[in-house]
Amino acid sequence: MSATVNGTLHIVGAGLAGLSAAVAAARSGRKVVLHEAAGHAGGRCRSFRDEKLDRIIDNGSHLVLGANRTALAYASATGGLEAMIPTAPAFPFADLATGSRWTVTPTSLPAGLGEILRALGLPWTGKAETVKSRLGGGRSFTRFWLPMCEAILNTAPEEASARMFAWTMRRALLGGNAALIPWVFPLGLSAALVAPALATLGSFGAEIHFRRRLLAADGHGLTFDDGRIELGPQDRAILALPPWALTSVLPGQMPEMPTRPIVNAHFRLDGPAALPGGSHFLGLVNAAGHWLFARGDVLSVTVSAADSLAERPAEDVAALLWDEACRAIGLPASSPPAFRIMKERRATLAHDRDTIARRPGPRTAHPHIFLAGDWLASPWPCTIEAAIASGLASARLATAQARLSFA
Ligand SMILES: Cc1cc2nc3c(=O)[nH]c(=O)nc-3n(C[C@H](O)[C@H](O)[C@H](O)COP(=O)(O)OP(=O)(O)OC[C@H]3O[C@@H](n4cnc5c(N)ncnc54)[C@H](O)[C@@H]3O)c2cc1C
Repeated sequence: MSATVNGTLHIVGAGLAGLSAAVAAARSGRKVVLHEAAGHAGGRCRSFRDEKLDRIIDNGSHLVLGANRTALAYASATGGLEAMIPTAPAFPFADLATGSRWTVTPTSLPAGLGEILRALGLPWTGKAETVKSRLGGGRSFTRFWLPMCEAILNTAPEEASARMFAWTMRRALLGGNAALIPWVFPLGLSAALVAPALATLGSFGAEIHFRRRLLAADGHGLTFDDGRIELGPQDRAILALPPWALTSVLPGQMPEMPTRPIVNAHFRLDGPAALPGGSHFLGLVNAAGHWLFARGDVLSVTVSAADSLAERPAEDVAALLWDEACRAIGLPASSPPAFRIMKERRATLAHDRDTIARRPGPRTAHPHIFLAGDWLASPWPCTIEAAIASGLASARLATAQARLSFA
């Protein structure tokens, strides 16, 4: 094994992949400098105070499952786990077309054994199979596999890779009760996954620079919008950036990576947002909205693979999703209360076969510069788990410490 590297580790991008790499390296004693273009950390997974709602809201409601072990280890290592709540492994659904309601638990899956085995990848799943071609004929498609596909892969089942879906289903359904536990964020994403990481970095003496955008990277250094940093022989860099940011930073080295949007509507209610059974979330079937999330007096609606909704005016989106939310939780029809519509146009990659196959690994043409991010080659789709695991993997490469972990 190569000797441990001792120079400065420059990490560009303070999304979860960059924070993960920075925390892992700083905890191992490495000098870390983190550079971020925005005025805040968290990237696609962050909270902010919304002036109109006068509440802390997330750019989009997120869930982590117990199967996301690297994400939970990172949250534990930074102290962020205290701001997360494990809920019962139960997924309530409401069908807005028929009015029927049901709850999926580890002991009451909505599908028969044959369908479950097909979803898990048995018999063998062909590369070209989509979630629709593999599971679309089954009785439980609309009630379970479709909402799971949209939530996990953020990709319509007609194009979503059945292989990747099967892998995530195996991690969740074959991992015991703990793997299916949904962890929620009662104080917001940043309180759990961002602020504790920044505090941890501060305690290890890491430097953090906001509003510093990387323009170019070459074998000798990093060019930012406020100056250039030359890399010494022991220095390393991790570019924890999404693919669309890397096309100009590393010209000619990045494949084109199609993405899919997620739209979130946040409504400020007059009183606490209450979902049936006191659940933190509710899946919707036969509806434009996919999941409702309740946090305090804010009711949020998530729509994945939201290509057409993302093009509609915010007022239309709010009216449509509020009407559905009222029907789902039994509120009288009314015009929407104060709302905020968040359109994350490049929320994740499109998880179709071709895009998945194009994902590169963490190495670049420059031996001292590595990549990190949810979109790099991995069995996971673009998720918190993928981002954090990728950051850790790149920190191992950049520090030449294969055993680096959050334990
Ligand atoms: C609405 C929404 C809902 C989601 N729901 C879930 C969920 O329920 N569960 C789940 O597991 N995952 C979910 N995800 C996915 C998850 O949020 C992402 O996979 C993860 O946050 C990606 O982290 P990242 O660090 O790889 O990338 P990013 O978050 O994109 O971080 C990249 C960082 O680099 C910075 N940057 C960009 N260009 C430059 C530059 N030139 N110089 C310096 N800095 C730069 C950016 O500002 C950003 O901070 C969701 C995503 C969205 C958008």
